[in-house]
Amino acid sequence: MKKELIFLGPPACGKGTQTTMLAEYLKFPHIDTGSLLRAEISANTEAGKEAKLYIDEGHLVPVELVARIIKNRLSQEDCKNGYILDGYPRSMEQANALTKMNAEINGDEKVDFRAIYFDIDTEMLVERIVNRRSCLKCGEIYNLMYKSPKQDGICDKCGEKLTQRKDDTREIAQERFDTYFHETAPLIDYYTNMGVLRKIDANGDIKEVWERLLKVVND
Ligand code: AMP
Repeated sequence: MKKELIFLGPPACGKGTQTTMLAEYLKFPHIDTGSLLRAEISANTEAGKEAKLYIDEGHLVPVELVARIIKNRLSQEDCKNGYILDGYPRSMEQANALTKMNAEINGDEKVDFRAIYFDIDTEMLVERIVNRRSCLKCGEIYNLMYKSPKQDGICDKCGEKLTQRKDDTREIAQERFDTYFHETAPLIDYYTNMGVLRKIDANGDIKEVWERLLKVVND
């Protein structure tokens, strides 16, 4: 049965790292909404120019713009057996849009849809954000607090120079948390009521969280 996995949790809760590993493990595409939007910005498309205005402020990009990008991606052949959707939906409006687009794409096919919630203490997350560095070439994510690159500022995997995301500052991080608590956190109740929410304890190191994640994915 097709497996549709979506992920909820505050900024820097570790979703990006874990979903990248999970995509490799399940051989499903890893669809990271933030990265798709940043790719539009790098390519200087009309969508990218518009998205940048919101991303730079820590706000959500308008619902129609993101829905267009996501529907297009979920309709591709490599999503036929399942997908890992990271960073979408982030509001009730987007949750409804996702239900609608899944129905259009799947027709009568029965699917296994799960929303995996990363439950984490939020006090340390701003520190995680300001210490985060990423590789724009291969997508590897580092953190100067607990996963530094071997050579300062250089990606271990591909040798590219590491960068800090423009919205990974203390001030914008705070905005992103506010957006998360107002817009995204209500989805936890929404998916609980639908009976599809699986919660994991996202405190701890990468390996511990990975083991908990595998349990809820394989049960
Ligand atoms: P992320 O890489 O997941 O931290 O997302 C970075 C930024 O991209 C967010 O702060 C938003 O501005 C934008 N973004 C990512 N996902 C969405 C979404 N589902 N809806 C609207 N904006 C989004």
